[in-house]
Amino acid sequence: MSGRRFMISSRSIQDNHAWLEGDLFSHMVRVLRLGPGASVTLVDEQGAEHRGSIQQVEKERVMVRIAGSVVPGNGEGETPAITICQALPKGEKTDLILQKGTELGVHDFRLFAGCRSVARVREEQHKGKLERWNRITAEAARQCGRRRIPAVSWFPDAERAAGSCDHELRLLLWEGERRQGLKNALEQLPRPASAIVAIGPEGGFDPREVRCFIGHGFLPVSLGKRVLRTETASLAITAILQYIWGNM
Ligand code: SAH
Repeated sequence: MSGRRFMISSRSIQDNHAWLEGDLFSHMVRVLRLGPGASVTLVDEQGAEHRGSIQQVEKERVMVRIAGSVVPGNGEGETPAITICQALPKGEKTDLILQKGTELGVHDFRLFAGCRSVARVREEQHKGKLERWNRITAEAARQCGRRRIPAVSWFPDAERAAGSCDHELRLLLWEGERRQGLKNALEQLPRPASAIVAIGPEGGFDPREVRCFIGHGFLPVSLGKRVLRTETASLAITAILQYIWGNM
């Protein structure tokens, strides 16, 4: 019996023990009423599974003794890894993109301040926002039974976001692209080990951003004549890539 599965951070494990606090503690002890002896499986952000049982319950934390760990080998991951490089949209759309994208199997998210992004993240807000965004992907991963939690990172502009990429395939969803359709482009490309897709904000990409992404090896493609909302474009491209290359 390996018991219920819980998402944890590998940082909470030390010497075959994991101390769990906060929301996870409440969920395990208060909601599920798990106590000493209960079998559990802890899954960390790398997808490694740690099986063990609860040994000790304290007032605000619980200790799990780990009996064995299984680290995923090649082939167990979600390949190809799809990264969504998303210009920051307005408030709730970011949450939606992170939550639904996680369900659809996005590997990680890179959010950046687009020239035309209406929403702004001030310097002092980064940390708090990132924590919140990472909580959204963690919660979505837990809810949909995904072992790996997609990381969310932040870049102050397109230049730095584009410069952070070393993905084998780089796509730029550009509403101004007239020649290269997505379908045609994908038919000519072999399945990559990793792919990143850049998506503009509600107001679209600024020409300088388009040049910047192209300069970093991004291939501009069109999703057709209809202009999609940024969140629609983000979720549609993920579903399409997962369907043709992934595990849907
Ligand atoms: N305001 C812009 C549209 C922005 S749509 C305009 O009127 O032209 C927001 C983002 O979604 C775009 O920057 C692009 O990344 C993506 N997108 C939406 N529709 C698209 C399409 N038909 N082809 C490629 N990308 C599209």
